[in-house]
Amino acid sequence: MDPLHAKYPFFEAARDAVAEASVSLPELVAADAPAVERARERVERALLEGTVEPEDGPFEPSGGTDARMELLSYPIARILVSLLDSAPAVRKYAAAEAATAAERFRADFEADDDDLQSVSTPTIDLDDVLGEFELDGAVRSEPIRGSRDPTHYRMGVGAYLRLTSPSWGVSWRLVNRELADGEVRVTREELLDAVEVAVEERVLEGLPFELESGEGIAAELESGVADLKRLLSERTYAGPVDVVVPDLFAPCMTNLIEKAERGVELSPPESFALMAFLTGIGMSPDEIVAFCADTSLEAEGIRYQTEYLRDDRGTQYPPPTCETLSNYGICHNEEDHMRIAADPLSYYEKRVEAADDPTDWRETQAADGTEGAIDGEAD
Ligand code: SF4
Repeated sequence: MDPLHAKYPFFEAARDAVAEASVSLPELVAADAPAVERARERVERALLEGTVEPEDGPFEPSGGTDARMELLSYPIARILVSLLDSAPAVRKYAAAEAATAAERFRADFEADDDDLQSVSTPTIDLDDVLGEFELDGAVRSEPIRGSRDPTHYRMGVGAYLRLTSPSWGVSWRLVNRELADGEVRVTREELLDAVEVAVEERVLEGLPFELESGEGIAAELESGVADLKRLLSERTYAGPVDVVVPDLFAPCMTNLIEKAERGVELSPPESFALMAFLTGIGMSPDEIVAFCADTSLEAEGIRYQTEYLRDDRGTQYPPPTCETLSNYGICHNEEDHMRIAADPLSYYEKRVEAADDPTDWRETQAADGTEGAIDGEAD
């Protein structure tokens, strides 16, 4: 078992390894093998935390049984998420697989740059990743004299348009890019953002599976699916706090809003966290567009992200937890308030509950005569 297959189970070679191992997924599931529990954790963490890393810490590909379990948990997780019968759940799962992979890529590249590779923890380099997604012909590095680590790359415009989105911010728009000979200049970090989308596309391929509920592997996984659905309904904010009091927002969200108000572009995880929070407190896309009117956030991007956050039943998946936001460097845990709540929305709800008749921002907008903007005229 190649430990890298377990670390990157969506790679072609990993899929081939599962096929060649002649492993019967129905038999594994029927036997309740450890990979089944890890698959359930994978989906749960993806939907609730935005990551598929195990709860007890990042997966270390040391080979042996754990690597096999980790690898096999991936195809089972794909079946589990298909059985949830929710398109947003599938998208969120794929996004979490991609975000986790991107973090692992970064760690691998860093180890590679620092010559820290070891036999027990094999790593891959950027060329391997670009080759995996057939981007090796579409991306070339800009050589820097005296350094072997390029900071910028040239990316074919076709690949750029497929793997990036103008909704990520104005700087991603092609008109604002250095474009020459059909190539777009990107930083190393921007290239990784694009690669993350390539991973997401790969994970989404073939999902959701069409499975007859109550039969075969679907029947065997019924209790795991029921557990996940229960967890999601517990964590889904069907009845949002539905009052908008910016003074009571958690510091992480206030920091993000202030950053955007200074005209600084938010990174994709930052804008996702903010949109998830504002959606989670019951704001409509029109209200969020009006609320963010004087910031670097664009109406088009806001609508795209808030659409993604709502499922077809009108409820939302919860915003990232403090733990996830801390991993992204978004949380600074001011005055140790992480012990008050596990996520910014719960923190806000507690503050609203404790507040004495707080004034809703929407009422002040209506009083100011800006109601029309909230009703969809902001953009
Ligand atoms: S502890 Fe939680 S609520 Fe507070 S800043 Fe960090 S992420 Fe936000």
